[in-house]
Amino acid sequence: MASDNKLKRSAGTIIVVSAPSGAGKTTLIERLRATMKALAFSVSYTTRRRRPGERNGREYYFVSPEVFRRMVRRGAFAEWAKVHTDLYGTPLRQLRAAQQTGRDILLDIDVQGYRRLKRRFPEAAGVFIVPPSFRELERRLKARRQDRLDSIRQRLEDARQEVAAWKEYDYLVINDDLERARAALQAIVIAIRHRPLALREQMQNIIKNFGG
Ligand code: ADP
Ligand code: 5GP
Repeated sequence: MASDNKLKRSAGTIIVVSAPSGAGKTTLIERLRATMKALAFSVSYTTRRRRPGERNGREYYFVSPEVFRRMVRRGAFAEWAKVHTDLYGTPLRQLRAAQQTGRDILLDIDVQGYRRLKRRFPEAAGVFIVPPSFRELERRLKARRQDRLDSIRQRLEDARQEVAAWKEYDYLVINDDLERARAALQAIVIAIRHRPLALREQMQNIIKNFGG
């Protein structure tokens, strides 16, 4: 924490949310953003195909593998990874912009991305969302009717590995009842905003006021 003392303004916190595919992360993040408007959201780059209803620049920036690789070479990503079958990357530019304006920024990235980001930004906070059971995860993936059966199988296979990372995160949300899980996620974001690191600028003024 001491190394951050030279920063004048409290930088916004990087909040990573990860989950096995189908756990309900997108649903929970949408609900959270509807109530916490000041949260910035990192829009990743991906080589995967756009799904019906998705808009370029809103859910993702959809790019070709060539463009993606060029961005990797330029150092444009804070982290990038192959997830399931495609490439995904977090643009450094958005993180810097949020940090400079003191806004908290939410990142919807996978476990590998979280590990890499945490090495680069140790102050980032991590929230892991899990479904109440493997069967329920399978049920949700099928009920979503978004992915082909082979893709669902791959996601379930990957989920077995991903859940093992639960202890690496700062917070856990078991997404059983949706409203309860949303409230828990909101409480977590509020708690993150009350970390000493997030309030250091205000505290410096208060301490000065105490004659410190
Ligand atoms: P993810 O972004 O983690 O892949 P989604 O948010 O797309 O997952 O959710 C997967 C499916 O499960 C969606 O059809 C969603 O409506 C449903 N879902 C999400 N949370 C719950 C919950 N708590 N109970 C039942 N269904 C849920
Ligand atoms: P989907 O294709 O279903 O939108 O996302 C698949 C997975 O990729 C999700 O687990 C999501 O969190 C992850 N993901 C999305 N963007 C990024 C990113 O920029 N970096 C990493 N490492 N993972 C990402």
